[in-house]
Amino acid sequence: MTRRGEFELIASLFAPLSRMASGALGLTDDVALIDVAPDCELVATIDTVIAGVHFRVDDPPDLVARKALRVNLSDLAAKGARPLGVLQAITLSEATDDSYLERYALGLGEDLRHFGIPLLGGDTTAHRPATVPGRGGPFTITIAALGEVPRGQAILRRGARPGDLVCVSGTIGDAALGLLALEGRLPACTHAHYDMLVRRYRLPEPRLALGQSLRGLATACVDISDGLCADIGHICEASGVRAELKWHALPVSAAAQRRLADDPSLRQFILGGGDDYELAFTLPSSHRARVQELAMRHDMPVAVIGRVRESSDSEKNGVTVLGDDGEPMPVEKSGFTHV
Ligand code: ADP
Ligand code: MG
Repeated sequence: MTRRGEFELIASLFAPLSRMASGALGLTDDVALIDVAPDCELVATIDTVIAGVHFRVDDPPDLVARKALRVNLSDLAAKGARPLGVLQAITLSEATDDSYLERYALGLGEDLRHFGIPLLGGDTTAHRPATVPGRGGPFTITIAALGEVPRGQAILRRGARPGDLVCVSGTIGDAALGLLALEGRLPACTHAHYDMLVRRYRLPEPRLALGQSLRGLATACVDISDGLCADIGHICEASGVRAELKWHALPVSAAAQRRLADDPSLRQFILGGGDDYELAFTLPSSHRARVQELAMRHDMPVAVIGRVRESSDSEKNGVTVLGDDGEPMPVEKSGFTHV
């Protein structure tokens, strides 16, 4: 195995990804300088992914980089922000040799170009060489994304009001079923469905354009990383309300519908599975007509899946899903918590 030294690695693989930003100084200084429009606020978010925890050790490195980037852009999307650039801290493992890192940087570069943003800087460290092979510690990536939003217009979690509609973009549960498929736990899945579900797990689509058009419209927004009910639960908690969702209104892909028909217990993966990176948001009911308009403009499903309700003090803020019989459905998995 060969691996370039730290500075050669930065100069050869990462500096080229900073070129579109003069303030990144070619990744040759201590810092990057970032221009923010005077009428805007800087929006910042950070996420760590660890091999063997957040991605599979055998996941293609280009997709690992792209997903690590995209989960951060998804947080910016949920606040209605426009991305400005990212920083990355990587901790190399024994397995991240030159070839792995080249493929990682290729994927990162491809997506940075796609989203029109630069790499602004980072940090490079490595685990100590393992005395026992394979035990040196896992490849770890931390990406911080910076964005901007017109002052005062970020869409927070705390603004949902009783009577608001609860809406969601895209389809829900695909990523969780994709992970199940990768683990070989989704039998009798057609190739086309398998590929679609796995892709939804490995390469989420941050809903940046949708998020930006929700500014001034949505009262609260969150991206679905932990699970539909868990993340809408976060809005409820922050807003002091509860939410009542309807199972039949949840947008489910044809691939997921097919799997549900074979095995109804998979419904828990729709309600509780994470990693979809769709947006869940609340909208005053007077804006109901805008939902279809948003779907058309962004060429994706946007569904009304329930209502925000008042929450009495005695009641826990939370999310209820009413089944087809009108009775609350059990929600087993309350979302992925990381520690
Ligand atoms: P310092 O020691 O002052 O923190 P470094 O030697 O860590 O600086 O980094 C030198 C330059 O390279 C900085 O601009 C830093 O942002 C950048 N850099 C280091 N590692 C990475 C990385 N993995 N990805 C992108 N930029 C990096
Ligand atoms: Mg320094």
